Amino acid sequence: MAVPFADLQLQYQSIKGEIDAAIAGVIRDNAFIRGPYVDAFEREFAKAVSVKHCVSCANGTDALYLAMAALRVKQGDEVITTAHSWISTSAMITHAGATVKFCDTDGATFTIDPHAIEAAITPRTVGIIPVHLYGQPADMDAIMGIAKKHGLWVIEDCAQAHQAQFKGQPVGTFGQAATYSFYPGKNLGAMGDAGAVVTNDAGLAEHVAMLARHGGLVKHQHQMEGINSRLDGLQAAILSAKLPHLSDWTRARRDAAKIYDAALNQIEDVQVPHVAPWRTHVYHLYTIRHPRRDALAAYLNAMGIQTAINYPTALPLLQAYRRFDHQSKEFPNAYADQNSILSLPMFAEISPVQQNEVIGAIRAFGH
Ligand SMILES: *Cc1c(COP(=O)(O)O)cnc(C)c1O
Repeated sequence: MAVPFADLQLQYQSIKGEIDAAIAGVIRDNAFIRGPYVDAFEREFAKAVSVKHCVSCANGTDALYLAMAALRVKQGDEVITTAHSWISTSAMITHAGATVKFCDTDGATFTIDPHAIEAAITPRTVGIIPVHLYGQPADMDAIMGIAKKHGLWVIEDCAQAHQAQFKGQPVGTFGQAATYSFYPGKNLGAMGDAGAVVTNDAGLAEHVAMLARHGGLVKHQHQMEGINSRLDGLQAAILSAKLPHLSDWTRARRDAAKIYDAALNQIEDVQVPHVAPWRTHVYHLYTIRHPRRDALAAYLNAMGIQTAINYPTALPLLQAYRRFDHQSKEFPNAYADQNSILSLPMFAEISPVQQNEVIGAIRAFGH
């Protein structure tokens, strides 16, 4: 039996009436850009994250750029982030005008190593962007401690971590701001691109909103030069329809991860995701390590089981960063992981039968 990596159709079918009604409402009201549906989603999402302000924008990449621009990042500044993430995190540091400083991961959780952050700080450092990769929070105690000690801002990249928690506190509430993506495959996904910046700082929220809307909140009154990064009404209404289900979907992902953990732990050579104490993982991705990753991936693929490598090259080693001339030995954990990680099928609706298929195939590969 083939097992897809994710199945967006199943989720749509499960709440088709709510989604279709949401779309019809936006079309009926001609509320395509901004308008009541966008305002409503911003209010609802802020409440869901337990923050005061949510400013929606076109995608999670823009959210990172907007948050940094609103924090007045400038040429010559250095911003620290992880060597293991999607390229948006580091690319937006550059586009905001700063220099990206990469840190290795901790070797266990795929998240940034706080010791490496300390070592990377210089007089030019202005901020840190931890990524709650795959859905597991970074070590926010250590990171906030370092930020406080050195007077740095923190932007949490929560694109993969809707509803994750660190010591019972929701991610997105630790730093000056946090960014979200609602790309269709994310734990809360639109039917197109969508993103948001959340913050408890009213001034920062207003600055982000202005930057996202051509530099002004009132038409033709441009306080500054901004960009055009708006959430459209259709996506907002779809997200509002989905948001009430997010807790159930998160629970389903965590239950599915438990099933994988219990079975895969028994199989030689398979290293299941390590969850550090106090961290609530929401399993945007269920990523194992395996010493013969490429052979395992090919074996599963031949059986119709879709897998993915997130991500095949650590950020500092990408062609995009050849100007820094980074060497793999500077990032031993991220480099080891790029060659051993494999993400297995994971979505809220995955069935025990599908999971058993995946587990059986991985077991068979070992023999
Ligand atoms: C998806 C993602 C982004 C970017 O979000 P988009 O909405 O696709 O622009 C940023 N950071 C991380 C870690 C992501 O996974």
